[in-house]
Formats: sequence, C-alpha cells, structure tokens
Amino acid sequence: PRIRRLEESVVNRIAAGEVIQRPSSAVKELVENSIDAGASTVSVTVKDGGLKLIQVSDDGHGIRCEDLPILCERHTTSKLSAYEDLQTIKSMGFRGEALASMTYVGHVTVTTITEGQLHGYRVSYRDGVMENDPKPCAAVKGTQVMVENLFYNMVARRKTLQNSNDDYPKIVDFISRFAVHHINVNFSCRKHGANRADVHSGSTSSRLDAIRNVYGASVVRDLMEIQVSDENAVDEIFKMDGFISNANYVAKKTTMILFINDRLVDCTSLKRATEFVYSAILPQASKPFIYMSINLPPEHVDVNIHPTKKEVSLLNQERIIEKIKDAIEEKLMNCNNTRIFQTQA
Ligand code: ADP
Ligand code: MG
Repeated sequence: PRIRRLEESVVNRIAAGEVIQRPSSAVKELVENSIDAGASTVSVTVKDGGLKLIQVSDDGHGIRCEDLPILCERHTTSKLSAYEDLQTIKSMGFRGEALASMTYVGHVTVTTITEGQLHGYRVSYRDGVMENDPKPCAAVKGTQVMVENLFYNMVARRKTLQNSNDDYPKIVDFISRFAVHHINVNFSCRKHGANRADVHSGSTSSRLDAIRNVYGASVVRDLMEIQVSDENAVDEIFKMDGFISNANYVAKKTTMILFINDRLVDCTSLKRATEFVYSAILPQASKPFIYMSINLPPEHVDVNIHPTKKEVSLLNQERIIEKIKDAIEEKLMNCNNTRIFQTQA
C-alpha cells in the first residue's frame, strides 16, 4: 500500500483526542489554566456530564486582546519558551495544547478581561482558529472558558461516554482534589441549573479546614499529620507533607490525593505501597485516606511523559517510596498502639 501524508486537520483531531480524553480531562486543563493565571476563585459548571457544556470561570489575570487570535492555535503558550525551561517550570501548563485540543473536538468560547481595561472581549474558536473578531463585551475580572458539544465530531467517543455513567463524579473528584491542595483558592462545582454546588471549598488558611469543607468533618476527625524529609542525603532532596487516616477511619475505597511539585498526578506504585502498609498493620481496617504533597528539585521530575501530564516520572522513585512507606508505618503503629491501649483502659 502507498504511504500518504495525513491532512493536518486529521492529525490535529487525533492528537486532541489524546490530550482531551474525556470531559473531566478538559475540566482539569481549564482549572489548571485558572490556577496558572493566579485565580483566587474558580467556578465550574457542567451540563450532561460535560458533553453538552463545561464552563470554567476565574478571577485570574486574563488574556490580552492582542493574544486572542493565536490563543487556540496548537503550541501557543505564555508559559514556556525554551526546552530547557521544562526543567524549572512552575506552571502546570507548558505545551500550549489544551485549549487548541478543545477546539478540535468541541466548540470553545472565551470571555476575558485584563487589568485596567474598560471592557472585556468574547471570541469563539473552532479547529484552532478564531471564528470571528473578538467582540467587546461586559466582563468582570478574569477569564471564562466555555466548551460546548465536546466530541461532537468523534462519534465512537461520544457514544461510549454517553453509555458509561457520566463523567460528573470524576469532575467533582478533580475539583475536590485541587481544593485540598490549593487551600487559598475558592473552588466551586455544580451541575448547570442547580442551586447547590456539589463542591464548595471556600478559601482558608488551614489544610484541615479545606479537607473538612470538601470531604466532611468525619474524615478530618480521623486524620494524622505526616511529614518526611530527606534533605541530609547528598544525592537527593525531597520533602513530603500530608495527612493520612488513622486506625478509626472507615472507607471501602482508597482516596489518594497526590501532588508532586504542585502537580496533581497519579503514582500507582506509591498508592500500592501505601495500601500495603495499611493492610499489613490494620488487617481488618478499611482503605486509607491520603493527602500527600511531595516536593523535589524540579530536575528530578520529568513532567513530559504523558499526553495528559497525569503521570510523572521521578528520579530515585523507589527510594522515595520506601521512605514514605516507613514514615506511614511508624505513624500507624503508634496510633494503633494508642488505640489498643485506649480500648484496654
Ligand atoms: P498552556 O497552559 O500549556 O500554556 P493552554 O492551551 O492551556 O496551554 O493555554 C494557552 C495559553 O492561554 C496559556 O499559556 C495562557 O497564557 C492562556 N490562558 C489559558 N487559560 C487562561 C486563563 N484561564 N487565564 C489566563 N490566561 C489563560
Ligand atoms: Mg494549560
């Protein structure tokens, strides 16, 4: 068979489908953009599990009118310029692909205003390009991004998502996680038309308050603070701060909220190791609740191994996991002993 070059629009749509795998991945990207923009309030509204509408509004720094024409082109970003910057980058975004991807698989409308402007601008995008010149409009501080009809042009994807239970619980889960880490940002998440928000984090200066606002007082009652640091080692510096559930906590499923250098990520091996410690020390006990924030020198973390940036790879991962495991073990042993002591007394 003859080899042909794919049309650019086909390439872009395929790539977009990898970055935006489901409605919740669009929400994650949009919320990360809001946090990168320095927002202190982030409000999310979702209709039909995100397939009909996802709307994220923030009070961040906004987007300059001059930048709007290229905002949704692939590989346009205000965050990265040289490849080397990837080593030290603090923002969650860096590739300029999220907004572009959304325009290849949905209809995107942006309303934004920057500081000192008298009015904002609204503009819609499709397949990476502006559909019209930005229209002046009334706007409050920050940016609102609306994504409609996600995957309208990907029949199979839309069907599976419609059949599977909708993505709304995943979206609520993401926002809850962000709220526990970014405690000074006020997050809310609701279904379109609903009066009540399903997440409303408030803004606080205490991590436990944030966890209480999102996961409830009963969770907070059974948490212990944990800290690990390995700063004396010559070849490695890492710090972990967090909260972990004690022997009284009851749940059927593990909740593991993990941030590495302020990025929300998954780390299957760390999760497994943690669950293993719990089941070894508290055999009848339930699955744990874990919040961990790990900080490493940026050059020890490769953030660019996965299209959704969901997994990162760490230098000395095994050693870090071992250290954390030991710390959890110690905490659990202590609290378990106290518990036995209390029951006996
Ligand atoms: P990235 O986040 O990797 O830079 P995106 O496609 O997510 O790429 O966003 C492109 C650019 O649009 C960002 O670099 C940023 O300058 C701007 N932007 C996107 N969302 C917002 C927002 N909510 N507030 C301010 N600027 C934004
Ligand atoms: Mg981004």
